[in-house]
Amino acid sequence: MKVDLHCHSNVSDGLLSPAEVARRAADRGVELLALTDHDDVAGLAEARAAFEARGLRFLDGSEISVSWRDDASFHVVGLGIDPANRELCEGLKSIRDGRDGRAHRIADELEKIGIHGAYEGAARYAEKASIISRAHFARFLVERKLSPDVKRVFDHYLAKGKPGYVPHEWASVEDALRWIGGAGGVAVLAHPLRYRVDRDELRVFLGVFRDLGGQGIEVACGAHTPEEVQECARLARHFGLKASVASDFHGPGESYADLGMTPPLPDDLVPIWRDLI
Ligand code: AMP
Ligand code: MN
Ligand code: MN
Ligand code: MN
Repeated sequence: MKVDLHCHSNVSDGLLSPAEVARRAADRGVELLALTDHDDVAGLAEARAAFEARGLRFLDGSEISVSWRDDASFHVVGLGIDPANRELCEGLKSIRDGRDGRAHRIADELEKIGIHGAYEGAARYAEKASIISRAHFARFLVERKLSPDVKRVFDHYLAKGKPGYVPHEWASVEDALRWIGGAGGVAVLAHPLRYRVDRDELRVFLGVFRDLGGQGIEVACGAHTPEEVQECARLARHFGLKASVASDFHGPGESYADLGMTPPLPDDLVPIWRDLI
């Protein structure tokens, strides 16, 4: 079965509407899809309706931003969540509310290096979204011709240690896992090798994540090399975590992987969706 349990619509920082994401996934042969917008559930009903209209199975999801120790952050994907759960919705809203102040601080930092109007510029790209993400800033900076593409904007302006980066307090890992579990979902660590932490720190985090009830880890990631997929598989085995499949699609031409374009999952791992469908 072709599975994709991590992608974004224009409710967060994707380029397509939730229904467009669902139809594109169906056209590309995805049979089980989860939409996982950052810190929101607002696109799920629309995506579900469009995907189920093709006779396919849909899982409700969200990718939650969490803080860890000294200014590290991780992304935890909740799958099979109840989008109407009150504590989950309030928790996600608290993260979204914090994003606006952060966006102003990012813009202030960019102003210091002579880039004017970045808040308004990013907000234009976030017109349909419920959040402003660095991806929106990245599109604005590409528009201003400061970098040729979104990837290089991050390397030069938005990644940790670069002029437009600001520290930010996201949700705690404990809160995020409680919201996901309370809403009937399972928690999955997103793109494990895309964080600015070393391997030791990643392992410490994974131990805490698992002990707090985290159940899965993305192994077959669109943004991972074949070697990285194998490394994630070893982490899944070591920590006793189930495996997920994730394109992390944001839009045509912008992402590493299109919908459903993910590496194969090693046979011995337990798929996270087995108990969810
Ligand atoms: P934020 O949640 O506001 O910190 O923004 C994170 C988002 O920025 C990710 O979900 C991606 O959409 C995007 N992003 C982060 N790093 C990169 C990168 N190196 N290249 C392209 N997009 C990135
Ligand atoms: Mn994103
Ligand atoms: Mn992410
Ligand atoms: Mn993502």
